[in-house]
Amino acid sequence: MTLSTDQTHVIVGASLAGAKAAETLRAEGFDGRVVLIGAEEERPYERPPLSKEYVRGEAGREKVYVHDERFYAEHDIELRLGRTAVSLDTASRELELDGGERLRYDRLLLSTGAAPRRLEIPGADLDGVLYLRSVQDSDALRERIDRGGAVVVVGAGWIGAEVAASARQRGLDVTVVEPSSVPLERVLGPEVGGVYRDIHADHGVRMLLGTGVDAFEGDGLVERVRTSDGRLLDCEFVVVGVGVQPRTELAAEAGLAVDNGILVDEHLQANAPGVFAAGDVANAMHPFYGERVRVEHWANALNQGPAAARNMLGQPAAYDRLPYFFSDQYEVGMEYTGYARGEDRVVLRGDPAAREFVAFWMSEDRVLAGMNLNVWDVTDPIKRLIGARMAVDDRQLADPDVPLDELASAAQER
Ligand SMILES: Cc1cc2nc3c(=O)[nH]c(=O)nc-3n(C[C@H](O)[C@H](O)[C@H](O)COP(=O)(O)OP(=O)(O)OC[C@H]3O[C@@H](n4cnc5c(N)ncnc54)[C@H](O)[C@@H]3O)c2cc1C
Repeated sequence: MTLSTDQTHVIVGASLAGAKAAETLRAEGFDGRVVLIGAEEERPYERPPLSKEYVRGEAGREKVYVHDERFYAEHDIELRLGRTAVSLDTASRELELDGGERLRYDRLLLSTGAAPRRLEIPGADLDGVLYLRSVQDSDALRERIDRGGAVVVVGAGWIGAEVAASARQRGLDVTVVEPSSVPLERVLGPEVGGVYRDIHADHGVRMLLGTGVDAFEGDGLVERVRTSDGRLLDCEFVVVGVGVQPRTELAAEAGLAVDNGILVDEHLQANAPGVFAAGDVANAMHPFYGERVRVEHWANALNQGPAAARNMLGQPAAYDRLPYFFSDQYEVGMEYTGYARGEDRVVLRGDPAAREFVAFWMSEDRVLAGMNLNVWDVTDPIKRLIGARMAVDDRQLADPDVPLDELASAAQER
């Protein structure tokens, strides 16, 4: 179907969510004007490789792009790279770009993503204190990794853990400093986080847990990290991975409702006519949870972009996918589905020591979330187990001889 129109749909954030939204507008037959604005000089790319194969030098730049170079011209998508949207007037439906250009829109998608949270401590501005979000950040990190030596990674969340693994794989001397008692504790909790602590320790990473960082020291260039428990760690460089903040400045200044992201309904629509948000920046009402959820992961950007585009075209599509993400560290791959909060226990299927298991976060007799580690093709039954919201027996969940598919089908039938 072709939607013949002289309308203009503008997307701010030439990101994964933004690029997939532009693609979907065209795939759904919209033949008005599509403008995709990105502050970075690169055309839209995917970030997961930046802490994995790309930073290790195993994959080149051509592997990271969302679309090939010709795609945007071929689909008549006006890609404005190196341009920042600086202000938004939702009453007149106008967007202003740096340099003063004004763009009128009929529909606007904000896919402005997230930016690394900065550490505000003495020495924070020293050369060699690195953050990782963009492909340029990854290039800079790769260059330091190539020089070898010792690196201190501050924070053992997903980015810190993956950078630590990649640096170890490239033979560096790696120390991780993390205030929690295990890596990835916020999402995985102490038991499963402990598996990751052991994986890193087995690969020769020094994990300093239960302590923070007080200062970076050096003369122009970082030479040492001072921890809260008084240690001095010599290093050639530092990577800080202490979480991200949604990039809500433009939305907030325009008076859109913002609270840990741009507040949008289940159709990804913000509280101004014609304005939508998707990806890391969207704090979206989730029909399954009955509350707002902001997801900082690849699959959410990949799927919310197209969903937002359909809603922009007036095809109502509630976004109800369960959160999902993956991580690769050394020879260990994992996928996590769902959203665990208020769990009362974790049920394990398989052997954590053998690094091949599925973990289920449970509340009473229901599955809230599941993570498969080096076990594959189980995401679908895990999703169904969560979605069924039905009682599941712990012993059956824990028994690898009871197929998860069968358990999921039984739960769905109840
Ligand atoms: C190193 C790294 C590794 C990752 N690995 C994984 C992984 O293994 N698994 C997983 O599930 N997720 C992973 N993620 C997370 C995943 O990449 C993000 O969830 C995803 O990139 C979010 O995409 P997005 O479209 O919301 O926006 P982003 O990728 O954040 O892009 C937003 C874009 O908008 C631009 N922008 C912002 N404001 C403006 C403005 N005013 N004007 C113009 N442009 C603007 C920004 O410059 C940026 O280019 C990783 C992230 C990083 C950084």
